[in-house]
Amino acid sequence: MAQVTQDAVLSVLKRIAAPDGRGNIVSAGLVSDIAIQDGTVMFALTTSPQHVKTMEILRGAVEKAVLGIPGVAKAMVALTAERQAPPSPQPAAQARGTSVPGIKHLVAVASGKGGVGKSTTAINLALGLHALGLRVAVLDADVYGPSMPKLFGLTGKPQSSDAEGKKMKPMSRYGVELMSIGFLVAEETPMIWRGPMVMSALTQLLRETEWSETDVMIIDMPPGTGDAQLTLAQQTPLSGAVIVSTPQDLALIDARKGLNMFRKVNVPVIGIVENMSYFVCTKCGERHEIFGHGGAREEAERLSVPFLGEVPLDMEVRLRSDRGEPVVATLPDSMHASIYRDIARHVWASLQGGGLARPAPRIVVEN
Ligand code: ADP
Repeated sequence: MAQVTQDAVLSVLKRIAAPDGRGNIVSAGLVSDIAIQDGTVMFALTTSPQHVKTMEILRGAVEKAVLGIPGVAKAMVALTAERQAPPSPQPAAQARGTSVPGIKHLVAVASGKGGVGKSTTAINLALGLHALGLRVAVLDADVYGPSMPKLFGLTGKPQSSDAEGKKMKPMSRYGVELMSIGFLVAEETPMIWRGPMVMSALTQLLRETEWSETDVMIIDMPPGTGDAQLTLAQQTPLSGAVIVSTPQDLALIDARKGLNMFRKVNVPVIGIVENMSYFVCTKCGERHEIFGHGGAREEAERLSVPFLGEVPLDMEVRLRSDRGEPVVATLPDSMHASIYRDIARHVWASLQGGGLARPAPRIVVEN
């Protein structure tokens, strides 16, 4: 297959007129960096909220043009809004509905750094919400290390749901629907993702998947607080965010960064989960506080963010995760499952606009 180059893509894009009639979309500065990966071309087109309709039509035309370039197997073009002044403060999570048809709430699960158990929390929170009788889906947006297919024990590729292959059917297991970038790219493919690319891939996964009616969609965010995460937090219509941290000081500093990131873009922080909180020795039954437990609870108090619960370090959690058998689904009577269900109850109560031990914080807009 012919190797696709950025120049080849740019020269095609330069032939497309900008909507205001002034030059082409490239010279008008509407095209982001272009990423090319195994025949997939990804970039974003800048738009303003007033012009979304016109740009949506343009987006279709641009995708078609890019698909016409020899060697291009897939074109992922996202519309991204220019950074605007933050909207007025949102007092509670439920104030933000989603604009994704059929999905009532989008909840991000985030962490300031990798390896703290964000994905493990995300899947078990999703299953906890499902156990409450809610219709739940998971969107794996952790493009740097999409682990949801493994955690769900799912392999294979999503099927197209229409003849033209425009929409994908989500994968599904344990009563929860899932879409992950991990289904679409080979596991060993190294990927370099910049903010707009992440947004582009996520938009595609979110909008071009035929989700069932969903009460809560959990989004497993990429770890950290860089540009990609900020763009995601800013441009996804989130109802709220859950931040996962271990009790260590370092992780808490990172968690604080995560918190500030969501506050900056006016996404209500539903609360903090302390993961790997303590360890109960299976032999002596004693509780060991390996990382100096309790840090997250104190930190949450200091920052006036609800504390959602503490999840102990447990061999069974890790073993089952690795086997694609998440504890809430496969060991529902365990202490862990009950902790995750409690966290899920807190989250759902917050989305309903109350029920937490502490009210959701007032969001302060930083300028
Ligand atoms: P992240 O998404 O933050 O990178 P993961 O959810 O992938 O983190 O977790 C990292 C590793 O820690 C995984 O091997 C997972 O099974 C393990 N892990 C997460 N939470 C726990 C826990 N409470 N007890 C034991 N192992 C855990």
